[in-house]
Amino acid sequence: MSTSASVPLLEVRQIQKFFPIKTGIFSKVTGHVHAVDGVSFSIKKGETLALVGESGCGKSTVGRSILRLFDLTSGEVILDGTRIDSLSASALRPLRKRIQVIFQDPFSSLNPRMRVHDIIAEPIRNFGLASDQEQIKARVVQLLDKVRLPKDAGERWPHEFSGGQRQRICIARALAAEPDLIICDEAVSALDVSVKAQIVNLLQDLQKELGLALLFISHDLAIVEHMTHRVAVMYLGRIVELADRTELFSNPQHPYTTALLSAVPVPDPKKKAHRIVLQGDVPSPVNRPSGCHFHTRCPDVMDICKVQEPRQTIMPSGRMVACHLRQV
Ligand code: SF4
Repeated sequence: MSTSASVPLLEVRQIQKFFPIKTGIFSKVTGHVHAVDGVSFSIKKGETLALVGESGCGKSTVGRSILRLFDLTSGEVILDGTRIDSLSASALRPLRKRIQVIFQDPFSSLNPRMRVHDIIAEPIRNFGLASDQEQIKARVVQLLDKVRLPKDAGERWPHEFSGGQRQRICIARALAAEPDLIICDEAVSALDVSVKAQIVNLLQDLQKELGLALLFISHDLAIVEHMTHRVAVMYLGRIVELADRTELFSNPQHPYTTALLSAVPVPDPKKKAHRIVLQGDVPSPVNRPSGCHFHTRCPDVMDICKVQEPRQTIMPSGRMVACHLRQV
């Protein structure tokens, strides 16, 4: 099914994922980890949305929820008009190919006992995207070329490649399914700086060529600044600000976004904004602070923040921010 540029390819509506904490020999549920709590966003065809935040904020759980690696506690995930969060495994199967994933660790995400050709050929076979061996072979060579690996890479084993090259193999495997959306879950975090830039450039080129949508999950705002269209900032399971990249980076509205951006390295230290060092650690998603969950670390905290949760306010520019300082 084709998707018009103005209609979202993917819609995530108010999703929640709470993991039960079980204790004792009877596995009694004694609490919940509130990993994701009321997250909503959409992604258009050909668009990149970055999901950013500190480790443990729930961003990877959002990605895994979209992939149906586990069931949601509540909420909806809609792909091209079809609700996929409640589909049976058999009904989901034809839609699975449309969303692919690239994980952080290219070392553990490739089967060491399979040659690269077979790794890339697997989704082509599984989704019935070629009619015979010759077609599969030709398609694998084409995909290796797309990710700028030599033709003979198919005959080699994953351990013969560097981290960056392995991530290119993971990208080729994702592309083999002919997806509309790729979830990049910290896909460049484990790589050296120069390799990071090469992989980001490759993803951008492929996006332009193939019209792919990307959900780019990362804690690295310096990378995100150069590759995304919009940014959603998460804190303790919730999106606290969502805006166009340029607006967010030039004029953050949520104190948490401001703090995160103040820590991003800039080439000219004279242009560096005053660094805001947040006090303390991210609170536990089991016992979240009352009111605004960020109030225990916020430099601008007010009395109301401790008791009342701020609404998600849509500003005239279309930016969403959840902070009592920005309520209209
Ligand atoms: Fe800070 Fe209050 Fe805004 Fe929360 S609502 S971010 S505590 S000012």
